[in-house]
Amino acid sequence: MKPFKLKLGDWKYELTQDPTSGELCVVGTQRVGVVEKAVEYVKAEVSGVVASVPLVQLEVRKAACDTCEGVTKQAEDKWFCGKCGCPRWDRSRLQVKWEMPGATCPLGKWTGNI
Ligand code: SF4
Repeated sequence: MKPFKLKLGDWKYELTQDPTSGELCVVGTQRVGVVEKAVEYVKAEVSGVVASVPLVQLEVRKAACDTCEGVTKQAEDKWFCGKCGCPRWDRSRLQVKWEMPGATCPLGKWTGNI
């Protein structure tokens, strides 16, 4: 299996599958820097200015978050992701992120991302 990367909170992991046992193995870790996080944030914000997320994709994102162990629901329109490492402010609400084409789920649960 080709190694793949997973970003979880402030850390990035490189994983591969042991060909014998089939278990996933962590082969590398790296802390996500403040600059990288800032670049990701700006890219996501800009993506929302130049394009929009199709309604069906928006519903996929919402359904994934609705059943995710990482979500915190403070109010009907105030859900936060506990896995991305973002501070809890208005622009990091999931209702805002779902509408940004360039935003991603740190656990890869937003399938069919555009
Ligand atoms: S963005 Fe991903 S990790 Fe965060 S709450 Fe939604 S589904 Fe869970």
